[in-house]
Amino acid sequence: MSPVDHTQNIIEVENVFFSYGQCDVLKDITLTIHKGDYLGLVGPNGSGKTTLIKVILGLLKPRRGLIRLFGDDIKDFQNWHKISYVPQKTISFEVGFPATVKEVVLMGRYGRRGMFHKVTAEDRKKTEEALKEVNMWNFRDCLIGELSGGQQRRVFIARALASQPEVIFLDEPTVGIDKTNQEELYAILRKLNKDMDLTLVMVSHDIEKIVQETMHIACIDRTLVCHASPEDFLKDSPLQNILGYNIKMIHHRH
Ligand code: ADP
Repeated sequence: MSPVDHTQNIIEVENVFFSYGQCDVLKDITLTIHKGDYLGLVGPNGSGKTTLIKVILGLLKPRRGLIRLFGDDIKDFQNWHKISYVPQKTISFEVGFPATVKEVVLMGRYGRRGMFHKVTAEDRKKTEEALKEVNMWNFRDCLIGELSGGQQRRVFIARALASQPEVIFLDEPTVGIDKTNQEELYAILRKLNKDMDLTLVMVSHDIEKIVQETMHIACIDRTLVCHASPEDFLKDSPLQNILGYNIKMIHHRH
């Protein structure tokens, strides 16, 4: 396996401003994410984290500023299958929802092939691989609604993986699931980042876990407050006020 290229920036955000109506939500944000990075995005509630992700994904248009994805201006970017998104509000399926785990993950192939293509052997192979990566292959024929919240979350990660992305954005992936499932999810993400060279960007309120799991941390409070290694993040005492958290109590694992 070739080593991760830590110099190649795949996402570049330059001087980005965004407002909903009159209300400025992102102010002059400049941030780069390199290939193989595992970036934790933290900040208080309503600080603009989800908005920033939506701007990077082209779902919201910035008022000012530049976004480059894999070297292309976002306006010219075509290879959207390289970027997957696991949103915070993934639908919570009812018990009888008529889709199996396998079918939900197959949907992840549409981004690559289009909505109306015939399912190919390659689609099935990538679906199987994705489900195995998240330890959910044994559940492939279960109805999605029969699974626990933590298991559903892993299926959504498999769906994101099925499109063979190079970067996955995860918005609060562990909210509402129990500790054991959280630990399993973090272990899966660690493996995807380390073994598959996948770039991960994770929004989370769990500062302790972000410090332990990620390579870099960006703290957003409408502006970019800091973008640092976990070690330097822990040294930055003004962050405690912003995050309302005693970061001195946290120990970095690496
Ligand atoms: P975070 O993800 O950090 O909690 P968000 O990006 O969701 O923050 O929201 C940033 C700010 O933008 C908040 O004040 C929120 O109320 C506001 N906001 C979010 N979505 C909308 C919207 N669709 N219309 C108007 N205001 C919004």
